[in-house]
Amino acid sequence: MIPYGKQMITGEDIQAIKNVLTSDFLTQGPQVSAFEDALCEYTSAHHAVAANSATSALHIACQALGLGPGDSLWTSPITFVASANCARFCGAEVDFVDIDPETHTLCPKILKEKLEAAKKANKLPKIVVPVHLCGHSCDMEAIKELSIEYGFSIIEDASHAIGAKYQQVPVGSCVYSDITVFSFHPVKIITTGEGGAALTNQVQLAEKMAMQRSHGITRSHNLMQNTSHGPWYYEQLSLGHNYRMTDIQAALGISQLTRLDQIVQKRRELVDFYQQQLADLPIQLPIEVCDVLSSYHLYVIRLDICHISLSHRQIFERLIEAGVGVNLHYIPVYKQPYYQQLGFNYNYCPNAESYYQGAISLPLFPELTRKDQIYIIDTLKSLLKE
Ligand SMILES: *Cc1c(COP(=O)(O)O)cnc(C)c1O
Repeated sequence: MIPYGKQMITGEDIQAIKNVLTSDFLTQGPQVSAFEDALCEYTSAHHAVAANSATSALHIACQALGLGPGDSLWTSPITFVASANCARFCGAEVDFVDIDPETHTLCPKILKEKLEAAKKANKLPKIVVPVHLCGHSCDMEAIKELSIEYGFSIIEDASHAIGAKYQQVPVGSCVYSDITVFSFHPVKIITTGEGGAALTNQVQLAEKMAMQRSHGITRSHNLMQNTSHGPWYYEQLSLGHNYRMTDIQAALGISQLTRLDQIVQKRRELVDFYQQQLADLPIQLPIEVCDVLSSYHLYVIRLDICHISLSHRQIFERLIEAGVGVNLHYIPVYKQPYYQQLGFNYNYCPNAESYYQGAISLPLFPELTRKDQIYIIDTLKSLLKE
């Protein structure tokens, strides 16, 4: 089976991990700080807080922005459940803003209409989480303008988008957001095994996130409420978690980060070939809008189901049978039984519904060979002709 995604681990990565295993620190030591510095250098963000997953990073990001019961967070329905769950961890409500039918990311026009209605009902969101689906940045400038007008904070879920650019600037710079979150799960662009990070330009947010990552504890004198009892002294100021990244993971992250641009370049070359070969078929291919350079975490095509004799499900199953490991990113989050039980209509967002009826993620990872890619293309073409 050709998988839809696959990590790439080199001899240098392995050496970096071995070096940590024989050093003094296994968890949150010098490698974590060095990884955070490297993320800041790459993105030009001022602060980075590494965590054990993007899910954890989203949680501490929401906490740092003060999300709690009575508040609400809005995100895209076409995302991994974690983009919405982070609000539920804080006891807040979730709502979904439908996607743009071309880019499949949170649509600023729909957002504006929804904000206008929410303003009248006095139910404006505290946080909006735009998701850079497949590595393609949302229209951040438009979303930022709305945030000023309607007074919400922005967390970019850039789990797919490290190495991408928006207006020539790396995603993660936080030019148009309060916080940006990356994931380093093995299927993502670069990996630390499990891992994530939250980036920000606001020092108070960075301090709060660092504290929430580690039990709500601080050792900074300027944050303490009482005078120190001695060199052993620390204070727990809030109820935090153990969301720390290990030094072993961070060393892998540092090593992977040195190859990030190469990895994105390779993904983009593979995408170019798909785009050429799949043109003129009854499918909608991904687009890259002006001002965006996608990191292409995923290559999602949409079947034009009215012009194909097989169903979406049949094509999906036949690709799997042929050894092509396709996937579907994502089932609209509000369809999940957990969200259904919160009262969402099963067909809540029409654009997300129509996307879900035709979307297929084709295999895409740096070591995908030309031979395998041609096989995937030929298999798909023959199914579309049936
Ligand atoms: C993978 C992913 C996450 C969660 O990442 P983890 O590091 O696995 O917690 C969150 N949001 C999106 C969009 C993702 O794809």
